[in-house]
Amino acid sequence: MDAKRAAQLADSTDMVPVDASVEIRVPATELWEVFSRPQAWPEWNKCFVAVKNERLELDDQLMWVFGPIEPYYPYVMPAIAKVIELEPGHKVTWEVSALPGFYAHHTYSVEAIDDQRCRFRSWEKAFGWSFRAGKAFWLAHFQFVNQRSLEGAQWLEREYERYGNLLSLTRSTSLTSRLRQTLLTTQAVAAPVWFYDAYVRQSAVTLADGVQAVIGGGGNSLVIEDGGEALLVDSKFPPGSDVLARWVRKYVRSPITKLVNTHYHYDHAQGNELYPEATIIAHQRVPQLMITQEGEYWSRHFRGMPVEAVPDEGATIKVGSTDVVLRYLGVAHTHGDLVVYIPQHDVLVTGDLFFHTYYPFFDLSRAGASVHGLIDAIETLAEDYPSARVVPGHGPVANAEDLRRYADYLRYLTDQMLSCIAQGASEDDAVRTLNLKPWKKSVLPSLHDGRVSWATAETNLRCVYRLLAAQPKATRDPSTRTSNGSGDRSTHATVERRP
Ligand SMILES: [Zn+2]
Repeated sequence: MDAKRAAQLADSTDMVPVDASVEIRVPATELWEVFSRPQAWPEWNKCFVAVKNERLELDDQLMWVFGPIEPYYPYVMPAIAKVIELEPGHKVTWEVSALPGFYAHHTYSVEAIDDQRCRFRSWEKAFGWSFRAGKAFWLAHFQFVNQRSLEGAQWLEREYERYGNLLSLTRSTSLTSRLRQTLLTTQAVAAPVWFYDAYVRQSAVTLADGVQAVIGGGGNSLVIEDGGEALLVDSKFPPGSDVLARWVRKYVRSPITKLVNTHYHYDHAQGNELYPEATIIAHQRVPQLMITQEGEYWSRHFRGMPVEAVPDEGATIKVGSTDVVLRYLGVAHTHGDLVVYIPQHDVLVTGDLFFHTYYPFFDLSRAGASVHGLIDAIETLAEDYPSARVVPGHGPVANAEDLRRYADYLRYLTDQMLSCIAQGASEDDAVRTLNLKPWKKSVLPSLHDGRVSWATAETNLRCVYRLLAAQPKATRDPSTRTSNGSGDRSTHATVERRP
């Protein structure tokens, strides 16, 4: 145990412990027998997807994966902890210390009431700067763990009532759960740090007076401050969105009065509700795409949906006296992407039209990508803004040369894939044949359909194969296309207000 931090935790007022218990009609010894086999936890306690450890042992490292807090929170969370207190038959406590600036204790206990009944209790408390930065997220997470654990105990009570024992949960674990354990062993060690890196860590970059990019923690964001008001481009998603909101409260003096979403994807928009004062602005198709593609989330968070629609012709809005140009370049990363340009400072925000240093994600849904549209859009941006500082959707700040290089990558990928398809290659053939390693891109984690997924060379090949193979033959060759449906790019209309 980290005695110093344990003492700090005891004294900390960062949070009131999340503490609740439930009385169940199961003998304490029987419940402990089940409880002392962590591998079987996911069978009755729905906050866990998988747990590595077979037995609870003092000083052991516990490794597990939490399920998503809500079905619409599209991620699982790996975790690592150390058992620091173990009273067999009664109580276990572990400490969580792998995340920077985060320290927590979690205690589960079982108390006999009489021969037939016991009380099951879950208690958790955390402190530290990164806990405070993501406090809303962590409290929601602790509540989730607490509720699922108590519900699990009640489920065990029903099982016990039905069968008179809990033997099915104390036998050796099934093959599928053993497979899950194997996966965990190989991945869990680096997992907490990876989670922090991928979804929480952010860094601010000043691009001009009153213009700051906040890189990481979801899609990149930008803040423009002028004349006593501020505009935010993209709000990230939990827990990164909470970290961003805290940063905004600390470093942006003016209230966020406008919020622009570059497109509908969750990692750019699910923090919108944290800015209740802001008018939320997006391309006119975004509200519809949010509902058709991520409807379950938005039906519960409709206050965070855009209320001002930008038509295909684009729009220019103002923050104080600073002009902010919103442009639509046709179907590209999705069917409703906006880029944001600040002429006065020559700063361009591309949204996910541009993934810098990373393999990109391709949205294969009906709301999603056109690979030719994407290449056209990126080349247009490189040509129109040759000296701009460019904030990509993911990755560090870049310039027009980086945009061109990215267009080259997509064009190479597309051309190679088209010739594979023309030769009758299958998707697997194409993956075996084509080599994207020389482009030296990094792998980006993301979350789709409730699972963590990765944008890699292989997923890029598979996605582009599917996008191109799905097109009618005549439109596959870029030279024969007449229009990409991008509309008139040179005019800017005023913003329309939706009813
Ligand atoms: Zn996206």
